[in-house]
Amino acid sequence: MTAPAAPAPRFTGSFTQQEPLPDDAIAAALEVMRHGRLHRYNLAPGEAGETALLEEDFAAFTGARYCLAVASGGYALACALRALGVAPGAPVLTNAFTLAPVPGAIVSVGAHPILVEITEDLVIDLHDLAQKARASGARVLMLSHMRGHIADMGALMACAQALGLQVIEDCAHTMGASFAGVASGRHGVLGCYSTQTYKHMNSGEGGLIVGDDPQIMARAVLLSGSYMLYPRHRAAPPPEAFADLRLETPNVSGRMDNLRAALLRPQLARLPARAARWNALHDRLAAGLRDVAGVALARSAARAAPVRSSFQFRLPGWSGDRIAALVARAAERGVELKWFGAPVPQGFTSTHASWRYLPPQALPRTDAVLATLLDLRLPLTFSEGDVDLIARILAEEIARG
Ligand SMILES: *Cc1c(COP(=O)(O)O)cnc(C)c1O
Repeated sequence: MTAPAAPAPRFTGSFTQQEPLPDDAIAAALEVMRHGRLHRYNLAPGEAGETALLEEDFAAFTGARYCLAVASGGYALACALRALGVAPGAPVLTNAFTLAPVPGAIVSVGAHPILVEITEDLVIDLHDLAQKARASGARVLMLSHMRGHIADMGALMACAQALGLQVIEDCAHTMGASFAGVASGRHGVLGCYSTQTYKHMNSGEGGLIVGDDPQIMARAVLLSGSYMLYPRHRAAPPPEAFADLRLETPNVSGRMDNLRAALLRPQLARLPARAARWNALHDRLAAGLRDVAGVALARSAARAAPVRSSFQFRLPGWSGDRIAALVARAAERGVELKWFGAPVPQGFTSTHASWRYLPPQALPRTDAVLATLLDLRLPLTFSEGDVDLIARILAEEIARG
């Protein structure tokens, strides 16, 4: 008689459970609720306000001259386009591998997204960028550092400069990351961040914009709905920068409030330590899959220092049916894989073909990469043991084929 095989271990953790907010963030939020001045411009005499202080903190953290806190990451992107004067009908370049709020922000200002191919390393393809910049006449590139994969920013910015492109960086997945020692978001003219629950700091919803240009940032402040209260900012351009703009710039309200800012300031102080924990979880999972035949991982650009809060791998040569079966087997064992090649978008995962409000654009190389690209979240509620079990389950199910 043979003993029955031990049941295959199952992972029971949650891929969407973030850590609780730290006690000092909760205390700071309670303080705001107790005094009741939630609106950013509702200040007691001599009070700076949590939102203005967050802007000051985040400007210092990224090394930017100016910072503006807003209602969401998507709002930050649209505000950045407006602040650069992108007009209805204008073409705006963006990498085809990104999340729906990016083409959504472009379309929200009446502009036309021109999707650019990506490479097997999941970053923008500079040859396709040059070709499409010339063909479209676009003046703006909205570069999305999707899933934290950072292009060689030296090469990219040289290319953008040669093409006369202004670069807006979508840093929803690179808050706390850097390239060549410069914070992600500080290579282009504007950097946009999200503080939505699934990003690197959690205020439920929220966004930040950084930049050095006084006119552009003054326009962003006015756009966000500052009324004539912009002197209450602490990380905004000086009042002179607003003189010619204050009556010419529409108010497209999208401010952050003091409650969210109070939640974020203590989290910012912890961001470097959290980034290190994310990278450790990511590298452990990568090590667990290193010897699994058929698995391909993206290479990181030489001087990039990413924050790997999620994990991507490709299975080159696998058919859609095989991948769909793998996703189902992994799910049975509690491992939630997102597949960018799925025919119908699921959850937060979508691809350019599902943005049907855009005219269809042929992106054969991006499609070939996404067809075998799998993705999983790595919330900081996971332990090293959790990651080891996930790696084991994936290795076994990939080997089963
Ligand atoms: C989340 C996200 C955004 C927008 O953030 P919201 O705060 O949800 O509006 C933009 N780009 C990418 C790549 C994202 O993942």
